[in-house]
Amino acid sequence: CGIVGYIGHRQAYPIVIKGLQRLEYRGYDSAGIALYDGNNINLSKTKGKVEDLKKRSEATISLNGNLGLGHTRWATHGVPNDVNSHPHYSNSGELVIIHNGIIENYESIKKELTNRGYVFHSDTDTEVLVNLIEEVKKTEDVKLGKAVQIALNQVVGAYAIAVFDKQKPDEIVVAKLGSPLAIGVGDKEFFIASDASPFIEFTNNAVYLEDEEMAIIRLGKEIKLRKIKDDAIA
Ligand code: GLU
Repeated sequence: CGIVGYIGHRQAYPIVIKGLQRLEYRGYDSAGIALYDGNNINLSKTKGKVEDLKKRSEATISLNGNLGLGHTRWATHGVPNDVNSHPHYSNSGELVIIHNGIIENYESIKKELTNRGYVFHSDTDTEVLVNLIEEVKKTEDVKLGKAVQIALNQVVGAYAIAVFDKQKPDEIVVAKLGSPLAIGVGDKEFFIASDASPFIEFTNNAVYLEDEEMAIIRLGKEIKLRKIKDDAIA
């Protein structure tokens, strides 16, 4: 399983697809991609190989966009199929997440969110997490970074995640506990991946997140590294 992301001035699609191919050695059963084209999020995902994802994406969605996330899934909750593949949307359709790992207490959170009116389309623990982030963001009226932090403090499990918000497409929030996550820092562009192989030809400047660390990656800004357990966060 693996994650890849790009935000910057280049087209995200070729970087993300090539990156997923480089992470294939990690093993997976499904693959998916989300691209933001300036107006819409275009999402494509499938059970099978990155090559299948490539074919499907090139035949069915607009590949335009400077922000993209890609994922290869090793199913833990929910069978390997198209719907359970990542990325996953939140209920509003505004947040998009990719996740490697396991949210162990997803059932109780899912129940709580269902009581509050949330609807789930997949059987994954991941879709629960992205909706928890959405709920925190709304009820606490905080920015995405803070919402991710608060949500992760309610979660038991392991993860490398990347999330973005359609309303704020100059930013990706990432966090790690247990699964690896590297950030490649380029000139006015950032790369995210499970290891540095997807961005090695673009930058030598890699930041490896520690466990229980998160980062707010914003175009035109320095990366903000934060502890997930810290109170202070922008
Ligand atoms: N637990 C998540 C799922 O089953 C992520 C699995 C993974 O690490 O790829 O969808």
